[in-house]
Amino acid sequence: MDDRRADVAVVGGGIVGLAFAWEAARRGRSVVVFDRTPVPQGASVRNFGMVWPIGQPPGPDHARALRSRERWLELRDRAGVWAAECGSLHLAHGPDEDAVLREFADKAPAAGVECTYLPAAEAAGRFPAVNPGGLRGALHSPAELAVNPPAAVARLQQFLAEAHGVTLRLGAAVVGVDMPRVRAAGGEVWRADRVFVCGGADFETLFPEVFAAAGVRRCKLQMMKTRPQPGGWRVGPHLAGGLTLCHYKAFELCRSLPALKARVAAELPEYVRYGIHVMASQNDRGEVVIGDSHEYDADISPFDKAEIDDLVLAYLRKMARLPDWAVAARWHGVYAKHPDEPIVYAEPQPGCVVAAAPGGAGMTLSFGFARDWWDAT
Ligand SMILES: Cc1cc2nc3c(=O)[nH]c(=O)nc-3n(C[C@H](O)[C@H](O)[C@H](O)COP(=O)(O)OP(=O)(O)OC[C@H]3O[C@@H](n4cnc5c(N)ncnc54)[C@H](O)[C@@H]3O)c2cc1C
Repeated sequence: MDDRRADVAVVGGGIVGLAFAWEAARRGRSVVVFDRTPVPQGASVRNFGMVWPIGQPPGPDHARALRSRERWLELRDRAGVWAAECGSLHLAHGPDEDAVLREFADKAPAAGVECTYLPAAEAAGRFPAVNPGGLRGALHSPAELAVNPPAAVARLQQFLAEAHGVTLRLGAAVVGVDMPRVRAAGGEVWRADRVFVCGGADFETLFPEVFAAAGVRRCKLQMMKTRPQPGGWRVGPHLAGGLTLCHYKAFELCRSLPALKARVAAELPEYVRYGIHVMASQNDRGEVVIGDSHEYDADISPFDKAEIDDLVLAYLRKMARLPDWAVAARWHGVYAKHPDEPIVYAEPQPGCVVAAAPGGAGMTLSFGFARDWWDAT
């Protein structure tokens, strides 16, 4: 059989692979995308669907998240992907959490992050999903988007094929790259000038030595969602609490953060043990998506822990009031993460680029990474 040919071949039809494919196609390249599963199954369909610039450190990372956000809004307008400009609300219950929110609201706008501190009464008054009990204050940010990951990723694949003529080879696992050839299971071979390997948390199939050398880790997150809330009830902004302030690097600009971290470590060891921080988003179906925990490498079990879900729900009940708390689905996802870098790039063969491990920010940053990579080429 003759080899088939494309300018660019992408291995992995999750958000990272699709972002690199889209940016290539926008620049007039012919593109083929391979994914081993016929329907997306990876981290890109298992997440909250939060496009979350507020979690990125002010400066280049935050700016990249905003560039990514532009692409999501373009997808909304051109492809009909549901992307709601819901914003976000961080809720403070302890005085130390409140101190971090006030300090962030004081410092971050000067660094280009739009956000406002809201006194408790105003936050609870404006946003009925907020539980006013014990609330001290909140940080409101308008930049965050909500997408529905399974629908968004499936639609993005379709859109790339329809609008840009991208060839989709779904259900085709790539078993070898030997530039310029890409070999799929079953003997299908393509030639490409440029290959992107965006296989998510698969470290074994292609270039295992790259992942080992980079020190990439796997992280498991437990998630839940409710039934659709009754009567079209909406959460409004994404919700996050005090634990989230300890999670995202953005808040490290606050001098008040170490005191909060120390108190959390002393008072909430079970949350720290499982890497729990609690967030909630709502999709277009009205389901509230709730999570999450962070367990790494050898701690990753195929069996989920009911204890984690209980801790997450108990914490969320302090933050939020939902009309219907019934959990309709539980699942976990696994992503790849580098301890320090926002994404791992490697070029194991000339023209073959491994782009992987955006950690917990792939929905937020992937379009930005891909834009930046192609702009720099
Ligand atoms: C529970 C959870 C919640 C999260 N919440 C958020 C959030 O709200 N906001 C946010 O910004 N980020 C979030 N993230 C992070 C985000 O989901 C990930 O960073 C992102 O999805 C990673 O995308 P990816 O394309 O690298 O991986 P994946 O989505 O896993 O895609 C990799 C794809 O490659 C395919 N593949 C692998 N090997 C091969 C091969 N050899 N041949 C063919 N195909 C192959 C796989 O089948 C898979 O489809 C969350 C992650 C999880 C797990």
